[in-house]
Amino acid sequence: MKDETKCLHSGYTPENGAPRVMPIVQSTTYTFDSTEHIGELFDMPTAHMYSRFSNPTVECVEKKIADLEGGVGAMCTSSGQAASLLSILNLCSAGDSFISTSTIYGGTVNLFAVTLKRFGIECIFVDAEASEEEIQSKFKENTKAVFGETLANPALAVLDIEKLAAIAHKNGVPLIIDNTFATPVLCKPFQFGADIVIHSTTKYMDGHALQVGGVIVDSGNFDWENGKFPEFTEPDESYHGVIYARDFGKQAYIVKARMQLMRDFGCYPAAHSAFLLNLGLETLPIRMERYCENALKVAKYFQQSDKIEEVKYSALPEDEYYQRAKKYLPKGSCGVISIVIKGGKENAVRFMDGLKLASNEVHVADIRTCVLHPASATHRQLTDEQLIAAGVNPGLIRVSVGLENVEDIIADIEQSLEKL
Ligand SMILES: *Cc1c(COP(=O)(O)O)cnc(C)c1O
Repeated sequence: MKDETKCLHSGYTPENGAPRVMPIVQSTTYTFDSTEHIGELFDMPTAHMYSRFSNPTVECVEKKIADLEGGVGAMCTSSGQAASLLSILNLCSAGDSFISTSTIYGGTVNLFAVTLKRFGIECIFVDAEASEEEIQSKFKENTKAVFGETLANPALAVLDIEKLAAIAHKNGVPLIIDNTFATPVLCKPFQFGADIVIHSTTKYMDGHALQVGGVIVDSGNFDWENGKFPEFTEPDESYHGVIYARDFGKQAYIVKARMQLMRDFGCYPAAHSAFLLNLGLETLPIRMERYCENALKVAKYFQQSDKIEEVKYSALPEDEYYQRAKKYLPKGSCGVISIVIKGGKENAVRFMDGLKLASNEVHVADIRTCVLHPASATHRQLTDEQLIAAGVNPGLIRVSVGLENVEDIIADIEQSLEKL
């Protein structure tokens, strides 16, 4: 099936006389006929037993997203940050390291550089455009993964996923891709060699600014028995000797993430949140099409304005990532544009405060047009050096083009630029 159909039908198939719409199973727990059955579930969870780590409504959404990405399984989390965190913790323990491109979401930089460091896990940042030799030279004996973002937030750099996948695989480790901005509608990283995909579903997937969430998706393609991942090939004593690679095959990674990490950390979404996420997913393909269409028009408007120094949007032929975007994002480059306004930070703030329709908020990839000044908001915690590495100029504004009529969006921008 194609994406439009999957978004409506994957994950939930009602039986005869069952509700047409996926029901909200708002229950913390599930009952069983025998003590023995419950006992068995503690050795091998084959049914829902407690909503800290699995729930029927959330499971429907997990199946839908796995299907959209072309993976073998998925696990929802209560935020995108939780998805990033668990995607790494499922591979790295204290004493391990992993490699990440530096052009990633500011919150992820902080998680990787500050918080994981306190856990004894080292993140080695690399320039995504560095040569293969240079990236290769960063690998250590204890390096367990490579991480990058399809469309970096907010620099809007398009990642060469195939290049990173090749380097990761040469070193026997998986490639994790944060596919939040692209969504599986615009890019399916597994087709280019990624092994694990994560999302902040808070953005386009939910799409309506209703609830924070995340998801981890497993391609099922990585060989966990290559000698580098003993946690996958040796018995897990907390489940009476389960061996993930042996017992769960292609789903080893995602089952392990649930059985170990979600069980212990419990950052699982509520059924009601999953229900709302599903509503967003149902219209994702048609929304993405319109976001791309509107954003391209807005980007072209910015391009011809003499108040704007630079426009970053990879669907523009002049953009440095245009050729790569044609390969990885052939249907469009999402609704997010980065602009650098002439007159630096001061004019950036004046422009943003002069907008009437577009709102100034800590959000992106939403149904309503919104703007954000990363240097004073999401990326505030970064040093100047980290800001430059993340591709964030102090005058840079992130414009998240929504689904209003594009003429109204442009008229609003025009009236604010005129006042500068
Ligand atoms: C927002 C975002 C995150 C973090 O997700 P939350 O849902 O806010 O926790 C991670 N990656 C990217 C690319 C994001 O835009």
